[in-house]
Amino acid sequence: MQTMDNDLLFEILEGISDGVYFTNIERQITFWNSGAERITGFSRDEVVGSKCSDDILRHIDDSGKILCLEGCPLQESILSGNQVSANVYVHHKLGHRIPIHVKVIPIRSSEGNISGGVEFFSEITSQHSMIEELQLLRKDVYLDSLTGMGNRHYGEMILEQLHHKFKKYGTKYGIIYLDIDDFKKFNDTYGHDTGDSVLRAISQSAMNSLRKLDALVRWGGEEFIAVIPNCDFQILKEIGERIRILVANTFLQVEKQKTIFFTVSLGASLIADDLSIDDLIKNADTKLYESKKNGKNRLTI
Ligand code: GH3
Ligand code: MG
Ligand code: MG
Repeated sequence: MQTMDNDLLFEILEGISDGVYFTNIERQITFWNSGAERITGFSRDEVVGSKCSDDILRHIDDSGKILCLEGCPLQESILSGNQVSANVYVHHKLGHRIPIHVKVIPIRSSEGNISGGVEFFSEITSQHSMIEELQLLRKDVYLDSLTGMGNRHYGEMILEQLHHKFKKYGTKYGIIYLDIDDFKKFNDTYGHDTGDSVLRAISQSAMNSLRKLDALVRWGGEEFIAVIPNCDFQILKEIGERIRILVANTFLQVEKQKTIFFTVSLGASLIADDLSIDDLIKNADTKLYESKKNGKNRLTI
């Protein structure tokens, strides 16, 4: 086989849209391509030389397990000498979590000893339908400009549509009401701008917990509603729990070396024959209040 010099190899890796990074055997990052910069928001200078567990990438699975500490695909590949693939969530510099597919290949020296690993990663989410729809609609009317999610007006519109479908065909839908825990504290401690960044990071993580047809709207202040079409109790519960876990693993770097984490409380409710849209929202709000009363960072359904 033709051999390739390193410069050519790196040039090729710069040209692909997937994220690629190399680590040595201690899992210290030695190369970071532009695809990795695009997906995670972290530049090469911020990442090369650090370990992926240094509050940078912090891969987790959908149960919230921190893979850098246990179950790291890179570690597994380096130890076993095999290719390893996994679906995980990576931390974005802006705080939120992104679902990615990773594939790790061990790197061998010319003597055949494993000297590190290379990880390829790509985003899993196809464009959410809501984002596509918001781009088609008149943005200023239905878009929440701070978070990029739908606004309350948009939420009311899609709830009307789903309720109509439920009355006509019996297709069930549900909602999950979210309220950020102790949000006032973040504003008071770090200022309103950081508060705004928290709102953006949490809403993006929540959005990335949803299926393609689900929507997330900012209902007001620091409260959001996830609108879940075609669902049952179990699906609603799974999505609510996924939002809770991904938000609890969302974090922001404030000041130097200080990392802040957030949580949300959630209340979910499924449509039934005798309920109006208002009843549904009131039910979810009551459940949310129970979550707050019982200690926050929890889902009540
Ligand atoms: P709890 O856990 O009980 O929900 O406590 P909390 O502090 O989150 O609740 P509270 O309702 O007292 O605080 C909501 C805060 O959200 C108050 C308000 O200043 C802040 N807020 C609302 N909208 C925005 C916004 O657009 N940006 C920022 N930075 N803060 C906002
Ligand atoms: Mg509130
Ligand atoms: Mg709150």
